[in-house]
Order: sequence, then C-alpha cells, then structure tokens
Amino acid sequence: MEAFIAGLGKEHYRARQIMRWLYRHGASSVEEMTDLAKELRAELGRTARISSLEPVAVERSHDGTEKYLFGLGDGNQIESVIIPDDGRLTLCISVQAGCAMGCRFCLTGKGGFARDLSAGEILDQILGVIRERGRETKITNVVLMGMGEPLANYARVKQALGIMASDLGFGLSRRRITLSTVGLIPQMKRLFAEGVPCRLAVSLNAATQKLRAYLMPIARRYPLSTLLAACRDLPLPPRERITFEYVLIQGVNDAEGDAGRLTELLRGIRCKINLIPLNECSGIPFSRPREKVILLFQKVLMEEGYTTIIRESRGSAISAACGQLRGRITGS
Ligand code: SAH
Ligand code: SF4
Repeated sequence: MEAFIAGLGKEHYRARQIMRWLYRHGASSVEEMTDLAKELRAELGRTARISSLEPVAVERSHDGTEKYLFGLGDGNQIESVIIPDDGRLTLCISVQAGCAMGCRFCLTGKGGFARDLSAGEILDQILGVIRERGRETKITNVVLMGMGEPLANYARVKQALGIMASDLGFGLSRRRITLSTVGLIPQMKRLFAEGVPCRLAVSLNAATQKLRAYLMPIARRYPLSTLLAACRDLPLPPRERITFEYVLIQGVNDAEGDAGRLTELLRGIRCKINLIPLNECSGIPFSRPREKVILLFQKVLMEEGYTTIIRESRGSAISAACGQLRGRITGS
C-alpha cells in the first residue's frame, strides 16, 4: 500500500489510513474514507477499485453454522463457513476455486481445479461475511480448510495471512490462524523458515503409505515416511503442536490396527490428532464409520497419550463440508 501511495506522489502515512479503512472499518467505497483529503479521494476513485465478494447463497444450520457461497468475477464459486464454538467464532475460508489434489473422499477434489484465488479474494471472504452478518461480527479464528490446497497457492496465501495477522489488517494473533495442508513438504518448511503467521495442520488420513497413496494421490510424490520425518524436524515454537487430521472412513482406514499404527508413526512428534468422521455426500463412494468404531479409534490413540478430539463436520444438515454447498447449488 505504501508503494502504491508513493506511486501517486502522496504522503507515506496515507497508506496506513487506507489500510485501516479497508480492514478495520470494512469500507466499501473511497467516499467513506473521510480523513483523506478530497483530492486524494478523487484520485483513488479514478485509479483504484475496492474489491468485494457477494454471497450467491447463505445457509444457516440449527447448530449455528453458516455457510456462504461467494461468486467470483469470472463465474467461479467458493465457499466460506462460520462456526460458532465455545465463545469463539471461527471462519473457514477457501484458497483456490477447486483443488488439483484429487483426494478420493473430498467433493472439492472431485470437482477438479479451476484457479488460485488472489490474496484479495482470500481476504474478501472475511470482509464479505462481516458485511453480511453486521459490523459487530468479531471473527476470532480463521482456518484455511475450505476449498483448495493452501500450500499450492503459497505466495498469495502468505500475503493474505500477513494482512490477517497485521495490526493494520485483521489483527489476529498467529495462534488463531490454522493452515491445513495435504502435506506439500517443501512449502511446509518454507512456512516456518519465513515465519508465516499460522499454525500447521496436516491431513494424514491413513496409517500406511499404500492406503494414503490410494486416498490422496499426492502421497506418491511425498511419501508418508518422508512427510512424518519432515514434521518431526519442523522448528515448532515452544509449546506448540502440529495437528494431524484423520478423516475416518468406514472399512477403509478405521480399524483398531490403523489406530495402533498411527500411534507408532507419530511417536516423538509434538502433536494432537483431530478425527473427522467422513461427511457423506452423493458422489463420494464412502461412508462414515459407526459411533462405537469412532470411539474405539479415539480410545486407542488416547491410551498412548495422544490428545485426540473427534471433530464433527459441523453443519452437515446444510452440506457444510468441503465443496458441498457449491456441489448442490450448481450441480457441479
Ligand atoms: N486442502 C487442505 C485443506 C482443505 S480440506 C487439506 O486437505 O488439508 C480440509 C479438511 O477436510 C482436510 O483435513 C480433509 O481431509 C477434510 N475433508 C475433505 N473431505 C471431507 C469429507 N467428505 N468429510 C470429512 N472431512 C473431509
Ligand atoms: Fe484438495 Fe484438501 Fe480436498 Fe484433498 S482434501 S482434494 S487437498 S481440498
């Protein structure tokens, strides 16, 4: 913003004022920026555009979950989900239109890849939701667990996270931003080397290389053993843990033996485990395990000392899992 303002030949400090208008006040027009000189406003009106996302559909579930389908300028659509929980208000956002990773249990993956989102489109989901719900909405946590693979859109995601964490942006502390990845090892290392403000979640979903490669084709490029070795070596800040996500699929990866193997694989990694019972939907040829299978899987992990939480896909009544609202509304 400072470079842009310098390019217009204006004062340096104007950049900060504009940033505050955009992200603190959610200004949707330059006219609202009343502490800018009139000529500057006129100039900005000619040279700049404030982007925004309009919801195409909003659905609310009885558990408080709200799902937003946003239309992008080029006709693509993305989803964001609001999840109220224990005094927190978490927003789950998308980073790509579609996803190229092709995981077999994921509707987004099934729909294929359209394009990367810009940093603006990633941030506009936050502003779009606040605009829709009202200015008093205070989003406390952001998770990059919507559509797309964040580390396949590294530079734009990094820029967006910088603004989320900045006091001139949304002012979220890095502990309140979680990036979930399918396990792109070089970019995982870069995140830490470059101090990108987020915590890391890794989607594991299987306890053997063979099964993981079947469920998640990317595992052929980054095998399970290499991935876990990389996780072991990441320079985690003190007291911080990696989250491993494990989507539980009936008869595929939900046996007691899978849980046992997982406890061996993760030994020595500072981590916690989120078990996500599969969110079923038409087009995905798998089902969710029975309750007692899920609880037994959790018990095996807990008994070996792993913090293990069962994360229900919230808002399943409104298809609030990865790619599901888009799937229903557009039939894609
Ligand atoms: N691409 C990233 C982030 C988006 S997916 C990743 O894969 O980590 C976010 C999470 O949703 C991942 O842990 C993924 O395994 C999970 N997921 C995908 N499809 C699901 C489904 N049908 N039911 C439950 N969880 C699912
Ligand atoms: Fe992409 Fe994540 Fe879905 Fe896999 S689970 S297809 S990486 S969005």
